[in-house]
Amino acid sequence: MIDPAEVADRFGALRERLSRIGGDRVRVVAVAKAFGPDAVAAAMGLGIEDVGENFAQELLSKAACLESRGDRGRQPRWHFVGRLQRNKVRKLAGLVHLWQSVDRPDLAAEIARRAPGARVLVQVDIAGLGGRGGCPPESTAQMVEHCGQAGLDVAGLMAVGLPGPAEQVRPGFRLLASQAADLGLAEVSMGMSGDVEVAVEEGATMVRVGTALFGPRPA
Ligand SMILES: *Cc1c(COP(=O)(O)O)cnc(C)c1O
Repeated sequence: MIDPAEVADRFGALRERLSRIGGDRVRVVAVAKAFGPDAVAAAMGLGIEDVGENFAQELLSKAACLESRGDRGRQPRWHFVGRLQRNKVRKLAGLVHLWQSVDRPDLAAEIARRAPGARVLVQVDIAGLGGRGGCPPESTAQMVEHCGQAGLDVAGLMAVGLPGPAEQVRPGFRLLASQAADLGLAEVSMGMSGDVEVAVEEGATMVRVGTALFGPRPA
C-alpha cells in the first residue's frame, strides 16, 4: 500500500538532494512500475506531472483506472521507459507522451506508423551490457538520424546506469550528455534513485526515480 504522506516526505528529500547540487530545474519522472494506480495518484497529488512505466500492460491498466476515477480522469504525462516490443506500440500510441526507450529501427518505424510525429528519446547502452536495451554508443547518431527520417521528433537521449556504486556510471553519463550536445539534442534522461547526483552533475535534464519516491518495490 502507498501512503501519500510517505511519498510526500520522500519527494521532499529527493528535492533536497537535487537542490544541493543545483538540480532544482531537473524534471522528475516518477517511475511507478510494480506499484498500483494509487502510487500514480500520490505522485500527481504532489504536482509530479510525469510518470514512467516499464511494461505496456501496467501502463494501460493504470491509465484505465485513472480514467474511471474522479478528477475528470486526469492522466499524467506517461513516459515509456522499458524495453518495448513492437506489438505493444499500437495500444500505447494514444497515451504515451515521451517514448524514452527507442533503440532500434524496427521499433522507431512502428512508433512512427502508430503515432506519427511522436516525441522520442534514443536509448543508448552506455554500460555495454546489451540485455538492458539501448543502441551501442557508436550507433547513436545513426539511430537519431533514422528516427528523424521516420518522422519522429527526437528530443534527446536516455540511458540506464549500472547497478553498483554510483561513481562507476559517471563516464557513461558523461558520454551520453556529450553525445546529446554533439547532436544538438536538448534532453538527457539519466539517473535513478541511487545515482541522481552523478547524473545531474553530468548534465541530466530528466531523472527517473522509483524507489526514492515510493519505497521498495513489491515483489
Ligand atoms: C525501474 C527503473 C527506474 C527507477 O529505478 P529506481 O532505482 O527505483 O529509482 C528508472 N528507469 C528505468 C528504465 C527503470 O527500469
